[in-house]
Amino acid sequence: MIELKDVNVVFQVGENTVHACKNIHLTINRGEVFGIVGLSGAGKSTLVRVINLLQKPTSGQVLIHGQDITKLKGRALRKVRLEMGMIFQHFNLISGKTVFENIEFVLKASGVPKEKRKERVTELLKLVDLSDKANVYPANLSGGQKQRVGIARALANNPEILLCDEATSALDLENTEEILNLLQRIREQLNITIVFITHEMEVAKKLFDRVAVMSHGEIVEINDVYSIFAHPVHEVSKSLISKNLNIELPNELLHSFTDGTCIKIFYKGERSMDPIISSVAKKYDVHLSILHGKIDYIHKKPLGILLVHLSGSDTEIQKAKQYIQENVAEMEIIRLDERRELL
Ligand code: ADP
Repeated sequence: MIELKDVNVVFQVGENTVHACKNIHLTINRGEVFGIVGLSGAGKSTLVRVINLLQKPTSGQVLIHGQDITKLKGRALRKVRLEMGMIFQHFNLISGKTVFENIEFVLKASGVPKEKRKERVTELLKLVDLSDKANVYPANLSGGQKQRVGIARALANNPEILLCDEATSALDLENTEEILNLLQRIREQLNITIVFITHEMEVAKKLFDRVAVMSHGEIVEINDVYSIFAHPVHEVSKSLISKNLNIELPNELLHSFTDGTCIKIFYKGERSMDPIISSVAKKYDVHLSILHGKIDYIHKKPLGILLVHLSGSDTEIQKAKQYIQENVAEMEIIRLDERRELL
C-alpha cells in the first residue's frame, strides 16, 4: 500500500551536497507496523517525511494505494495527506491550547462542523485514555500523556497510515512502554499501517513486524524483526543489535577466575528451549556456573544470551564446548580466555 520507488533526496547546503536518501525501494503492507532504524544522520527522518511529502523527493515515486502522490497538487494532495497522521519526538502540541483544543484544531482545519468535532474529540480522548484531561494545558501533562494527545490528534481524521518520527525517544522507560502499548492497541483496533522510525532497538523488538536498517541514506537490510535480531547481516545491523542484546560482567569477576573457561552463548530460535546446560553437566565432568543471562521474546520466539563459566580438566572442557557447539546449531560461542577481558 505504501511503495517507494527509486527515491532519492539530495540537499544542497552551500558547497556541500548531502545525499540523505539513496535509491530507496520499499513496500510497506497494509496493517503492518514497519520500522526504520539506524544511527543518527542515516536518513530515517527524511525518508519518513517523504512518505507524506513533507519532504519532496529529488527523484523517484511515492505510491499510496498505487497512486503516485508526487504528481498531485492542491486539493488532491491535501486529501491524500489527510489519510496520513504523524507524531513527533517533541509532540508539537500548541502550549496555549488545552488538550481538547489541540485535537479539535486539526478537525477544524479540515472543515469538520462544531458538533461533530466535539463528538470526535470525546471519542479520541477515550481511545487514548485521557478523557479526564480535556481541559488541561500541555505543560501540566507527563511526556507520555503529551504523546497520547499527539496520537489522538494524528488519528483525528481517521488516517489509514500513522507516521511516527522518534515518537518515544524523548520519553523515559515507563512512558515509552505506555506509548508502545497504546500503539499496539490502536493497531489492533483500527487496522492502521504504522511506519515508525527510531534509533532505539528496544522499540523495534516490542512493536515492529518488519524493520529496515538505514545507513548513509541507504536501506542496507530489511527483514522481520526476529530475523534481524537473530541473524543480522549488515555491519550496522550487527552493531545496533549487539548493543541491545549484549550483557557484560564486572571486570573484577572475570579477573577472579583462576581456572576454567567462560563462554558466551547466544540462543536463537526453537532450539533455545533445549536443556543444553543440564545435558552438558550430566555428560561431562565439568562444573557449570551461570554468571549472567537474559532471554527476550520477540514475536513470542525466544532469543537469549547466557554467560557460563566451565571448570574441570582441559579435555572435559573441550568436549563440553564441542557438544554445545554441535547441539545448538543456531548458537554462537564467544570464548573468554581465562583472566582476559571479553573478546
Ligand atoms: P536521521 O533521521 O537518521 O537522523 P536525517 O534524515 O535527519 O537522519 O538526516 C540525514 C542527512 O540529511 C543528515 O546528514 C542531515 O544533516 C541531512 N539533512 C536532513 N534534512 C536536511 C535539510 N533540510 N537540509 C540539509 N540537510 C539536511
